[in-house]
Amino acid sequence: MKITDIRMMRLYGPRDHGVGGGEAKIYKVIIRVDGEDGQYGLGECDHFAGVRECIAYMRAYFVGRSIFSINAVISEMLYGTAAPHPAEAKSGIMPGNINAVQFCSPTATPWGPAVWAASGVDIALTDLVGKVLGTPAYNLLGGKFRDQSRVYLDRSSPDDITDLNAWRDMAKETAESGFSQMKFDIDFLATDQVDDAWNRSLSLKMLNRIVERLTAVREAAGPDFEICVDCHMQYNVPDSVRLLKVLEPLNLLWVEDPTPITSPDSCAEIRKKTTTAICVGEMFIAEQFRLFIDHKACDILHPDVLFCGGMHEMRKIADYAELNHIPMAIHGNGGALATIAAAHVGAASRNFTGLEYHFIETPWLAEYVKRDLPLFRDGHVPLDDAPGLGIELNEEVCSKHLADGESLF
Ligand SMILES: [Mg+2]
Repeated sequence: MKITDIRMMRLYGPRDHGVGGGEAKIYKVIIRVDGEDGQYGLGECDHFAGVRECIAYMRAYFVGRSIFSINAVISEMLYGTAAPHPAEAKSGIMPGNINAVQFCSPTATPWGPAVWAASGVDIALTDLVGKVLGTPAYNLLGGKFRDQSRVYLDRSSPDDITDLNAWRDMAKETAESGFSQMKFDIDFLATDQVDDAWNRSLSLKMLNRIVERLTAVREAAGPDFEICVDCHMQYNVPDSVRLLKVLEPLNLLWVEDPTPITSPDSCAEIRKKTTTAICVGEMFIAEQFRLFIDHKACDILHPDVLFCGGMHEMRKIADYAELNHIPMAIHGNGGALATIAAAHVGAASRNFTGLEYHFIETPWLAEYVKRDLPLFRDGHVPLDDAPGLGIELNEEVCSKHLADGESLF
């Protein structure tokens, strides 16, 4: 069966998750890959600069390919092809006046928009192939180890970060809602103490407020609840070491991305000076994970199915981690569709430990696709034997959240 079309549809709506309770909006790009006989699969991309241009490129370049060529399609987008090219390769001007470059990735790198776009197409192709073969996506990844994938909630921060009771309430509410892990952002924990917006230092007064607020969280959530924190790649090495030292009594599951992402050496140095696990990689592709593992710069991996190249690239990352005795959590900045896709990878990866969800406060992001099962049950994404991802568009919710100029598939 051949790919007959690759389409996209932008959704837009509130993003009620965030820092200091401020109002925010979010776009989602939904992908539809059509095969023959009216069959199609669905995927999701984040709405980053250049993604839609790369999807348009993939439509011009890959229509006509076998739907079963998932690894070849993703490989050509991420890593390019040098001569001799595959027989199906296109060159020169394609429909839409798009030029097929000799090295296929339209950005000529395996990073950025090309990989973000390829991730969404991989998810849609996997859904399509599963539907055509009548088998769930996890079976296309080697079969499942578990019937449900554990979820952890990113809670960001309460509206008033100076109110310790608000931190306690947020922690208690999460612990009582069936989930077993939550995450807070170090860079948003004490914004009331920031003196300089540029140097990204963690002053002693910031550290003291961070410890005070996370201690309230720990006390409210209880000793058995897993808590982790995210640094968003913001800090220098000595401040990160000092932060990890003051956080150690809280028995955190991990501290995430302490320093800027490109240097495994910085993380390796921090790692030597702490007993808390260092988790990395929400924007990484497989090659960057290899670099961090080989440099002994991480304890836990954290790929995102929307940013690492998709479900099959994530399986590759999970396997390399497992061979190095490293667990894999999954970063999640997606809505329901991306979350279910990631849950299939989690089910099919032996070393999977948990999958992040950001948008528990934003119902429409859990509802733009529907399935027979609820999105979450007892703190997990449950999976059944429905073909592909087991989802369909919720046309009512999608219609309500169509971005300007968009129409339903
Ligand atoms: Mg993060």
